[in-house]
Amino acid sequence: MTHQDWDRDVTFGLAMPSCVHCGGHGTRNGRRGMEVPCNCVFRAIFRACYERFRFCAAKEKYISKVSLVPCRGRDRRLTYERLIEDYIADFCLVSKRHLSDLDYRIFRYHFLLGADWRLCCSRLGIDRGNFFHAVYRIQQRLGRVFKELQPYGLYPVDEYFAGRVERNTSPPPPEGTPHQGTPVRPPLRDAA
Ligand SMILES: [Zn+2]
Repeated sequence: MTHQDWDRDVTFGLAMPSCVHCGGHGTRNGRRGMEVPCNCVFRAIFRACYERFRFCAAKEKYISKVSLVPCRGRDRRLTYERLIEDYIADFCLVSKRHLSDLDYRIFRYHFLLGADWRLCCSRLGIDRGNFFHAVYRIQQRLGRVFKELQPYGLYPVDEYFAGRVERNTSPPPPEGTPHQGTPVRPPLRDAA
């Protein structure tokens, strides 16, 4: 929960090169001259998590269809499918917990339901400027929370998945069992 968790390489790698606040370095001076991650870093983290959330949501629809077919190795459900469900649930619950009521409504309409700014503005009775300010605020708030969350942050996304796969995986089935092997993992992606 502290700045110690923020590795300079991480913030540098995530920073927006054209950022007017940090000049692409990923850090800026906070209170009492302490170096803190720049908001562009938080927004990049949010985008990475949101991208994975969308990937999981699309995958879950597919899985709910194929899961109707009985298959061997039930424990595999504890790994990949379960992780996908967990990530979706965590993404939504954590967001709700850390946003104000209005920001959560904007988050829900825009990020979860896919409404564009026009629709959000007319539904929520806010103007375009306030909408985009809110989107920035939401991304920055959640980007920080996703990374600092204890014990398991939603970011880095691959660590969330990899760490849990290791804990949940049951011993491998005996030789010759169909579909044995390591759990399927979503495509890994560099944080940068
Ligand atoms: Zn910046």
